[in-house]
Amino acid sequence: MLKSFNSIRLMSIVFIATLVTNGFIIKDALAGVGDSPLVTKQKWSNTKVTYDLGSDLSRGFKNAVDHAGVMVWNGVSSLEFEYSGTSFNDWGMRELDNPAVTQIYSTDNKIIEVNTYFNELEQWNTAILADPDPDELDALTVAIHEFGHWFRLRDTYDDMYSDAMMYGYIDYGEKKVKLSYEDIDAAQTMYP
Ligand SMILES: [Zn+2]
Repeated sequence: MLKSFNSIRLMSIVFIATLVTNGFIIKDALAGVGDSPLVTKQKWSNTKVTYDLGSDLSRGFKNAVDHAGVMVWNGVSSLEFEYSGTSFNDWGMRELDNPAVTQIYSTDNKIIEVNTYFNELEQWNTAILADPDPDELDALTVAIHEFGHWFRLRDTYDDMYSDAMMYGYIDYGEKKVKLSYEDIDAAQTMYP
């Protein structure tokens, strides 16, 4: 959902690209941010971040998002995600050119709001434990990755980080649900 914040820049980020054309290289923009390619300067001012789940999400998607936030990311750093029906932070479905998109609204390096949408044009596996079919994207994998963007972690397209959840490519049929050292280190660097 687009909300009008007059002074807030909308940064639209496209992630988990299946196409190399989305693999823009942003390493040069990282100077001074630290030695992790995943870390940025934009942060939440509060370490309790609430999210709500759009009514257009199936039960399976809702479970995947909750699992990603609470079971995977909570406890890793001081940033905690909490479900809230009254939050402005939404997860939903959209017609997209990519598997998912996360929009980050920020001002003065402070994150104001984040929205994430899954591509409703794709075939999805929403089961937490089952692997996706070869023509399906895995909702839990994508949700963990996109929640990484809620921290304001950045994508990396460097193959040396291919084990990281913030690696910016996903394949159909791929399930990857474990944070790597790089993911954890970046989250703890931003939210000690
Ligand atoms: Zn991404």
